[in-house]
Amino acid sequence: MGTGVKERPKRTLRPTKPFIPDLVYFEPDALNYSKGVKIMEWVKQNNIPLRMTTSHNRITNLPGDTDLEKYKNAKRTLVVGVRKTLEFDQSKPSAEYAIPISTGCMGHCHYCYLQTTLGAKPYVRVYVNTEDILASAKRYIEERKPQITRFEAACTSDPVGIEHITGSLADLITFMADEEFGRLRFVTKFHHVDPLLKLKHNGHTRIRFSVNSDYVIRQFEPSTSHFEERIEAAGKVAHAGYPLGFIIAPIIWYDGWEEGYADLLARLEKTLPKDATSDLTFELIQHRFTKTAKSVIEQRYPKTKLEMDIEKRKKKWGRWGQSKYVYPDEQQTALREFITERIFEHFPSANIDYFT
Ligand code: SF4
Repeated sequence: MGTGVKERPKRTLRPTKPFIPDLVYFEPDALNYSKGVKIMEWVKQNNIPLRMTTSHNRITNLPGDTDLEKYKNAKRTLVVGVRKTLEFDQSKPSAEYAIPISTGCMGHCHYCYLQTTLGAKPYVRVYVNTEDILASAKRYIEERKPQITRFEAACTSDPVGIEHITGSLADLITFMADEEFGRLRFVTKFHHVDPLLKLKHNGHTRIRFSVNSDYVIRQFEPSTSHFEERIEAAGKVAHAGYPLGFIIAPIIWYDGWEEGYADLLARLEKTLPKDATSDLTFELIQHRFTKTAKSVIEQRYPKTKLEMDIEKRKKKWGRWGQSKYVYPDEQQTALREFITERIFEHFPSANIDYFT
């Protein structure tokens, strides 16, 4: 098909299994909700060690002798609690609000911003009071109507990776299906979308997959689904009628980036079923880091090849007075222009929502 897809040796990839935590903590109040009771049954059926905790905010006795061991164990620990704060944070530029259903993730992406934003709580935490959360969403929709209000469900976790435990995305999707002025969106690096395929969604939920060049996925995204799995899942959700999107993030400058990103777009075109591309969006996010993130990443992934050389970056001030490091303007422009051209070469009718 002359798409410029690089020939590569055949790899045998083991399927990425759904997440089963090594340890689960429960807030007693979580058992006052049907979702909490269901998760408890699941934990018992799977014989997962269980502890009770007074607060999902204070898990202090995670197993492990060193900070690194504790961190790794936290990533395999599930905490089940009740969301008390029902005010939503803003979620620019992809949506108006972040809808809080979970925090933390079992993935080990070196660059993940949750490493700093979640601070001492890297465990996977899920909330069981979905009805309260949806009641808040409804209030936000009512306040803004007739403008559309978009909710992002993946600001603080990867909710697809834990959907088999919570079913929360299914609740959100079916709720939003009936909301004339509400929309849901989320992004994932996991392929476990089967429970979502038969739901009523009315086209009100956009599912995006996070993709990247082969080099970036292999070097920096351990414990997530393979590229091939993500693309197969993208085809499935598009067949199920969901609006589909891709987030290319973080876009990383490395030796061979042009070839890597050209190959990514060529492979996407080759692999995606044609009918999956009719309403396609792309979001482009360059790699950025803060000084705090750099030091946390260097402790947790000491052998990482992630380049975080402040001398080679441009300082950018954030909305809350904190600074982060992005690529200098010239590099940003080169990345943006090159990737934009490749997107339109392979998907002429796609929309690029933003580059940031
Ligand atoms: S999959 Fe997403 S949320 Fe999970 S570690 Fe990777 S970047 Fe972070």
